[in-house]
Amino acid sequence: MDDIFLNGNFIAKSEASISIMDRGFLFGDGVYELIPVYNKKPFLINKHLARLKNSLNMIGMQEIDNIKEDILKFINRSNETNYHIYLHITRGEQSYRNHVYPNDIKPTIMIMSEKYPCFNEIQITAGFKATVQNDFRWQKSNIKSISLLGNVLLKKHASENNCYESLLIKNDLLTEGSASNVFIVKDKTVYTPKLNKDLLPGVTRNFLIEILDTKNISVKETDITLNNLLNSDEIWCSSSTNPVVPIIKVDNSIIGKGKVGEYSLLAFKEAQEFITSY
Ligand code: PLP
Repeated sequence: MDDIFLNGNFIAKSEASISIMDRGFLFGDGVYELIPVYNKKPFLINKHLARLKNSLNMIGMQEIDNIKEDILKFINRSNETNYHIYLHITRGEQSYRNHVYPNDIKPTIMIMSEKYPCFNEIQITAGFKATVQNDFRWQKSNIKSISLLGNVLLKKHASENNCYESLLIKNDLLTEGSASNVFIVKDKTVYTPKLNKDLLPGVTRNFLIEILDTKNISVKETDITLNNLLNSDEIWCSSSTNPVVPIIKVDNSIIGKGKVGEYSLLAFKEAQEFITSY
């Protein structure tokens, strides 16, 4: 579908425009969500909207009225079956550029559809490479902010080095990937960094913890050091676009046996099964 939703109206993407005085454009002042749509149904929408509410709250913005209804309206109008909803909310337009925002500013709300490439089973079973990078981003990475310059540079660095992801280390601890959360497996136990201000509370992270629990695999949310990461038996990254992406090599370190491990495959298959029957 080429139409986007902008401030209450459906409009052709090619005709949609916003003011150059929008704070999203000038300051990267806003938040976003990316919600997969499977079989014409938004996946885990309430979890995404709960995170959106928290992100808005953390940047001093009000909840957006009727946002769920608008998303459902958007999905109803679309001819597509499987895609991603990109929801972008900025603090709005101001008549002059000023760091200080007025309290009564009207937000800019945009919904569009995107189709991100999802890896197939052959790619997943082959595994991916990653690189370790210093997490130089700001100290509020738990906000799903549209200011993504740090993430953009880190993801580009990974891509230029034929890696799927940059795995980020702050004060010797793993935080997350540049656009994903990270799980590791050591001695048949699955670990993921515990939630704090340095990582996004991934909806997929939570979804995987829950589906693994139904298989009697409890995920330990804890501190993971760089040494733990490099000496793990398995690593995978999680995100809404690709729920489980196994990593078999990190820079020059081979992970485990250098092949995709059983827990990564199990997580991938369980996620796929759940999504297919959604
Ligand atoms: N961490 C970062 C920095 C991300 O950008 C993303 C997804 O875009 C995630 C984690 C995973 O979040 P989710 O599973 O909600 O897509």
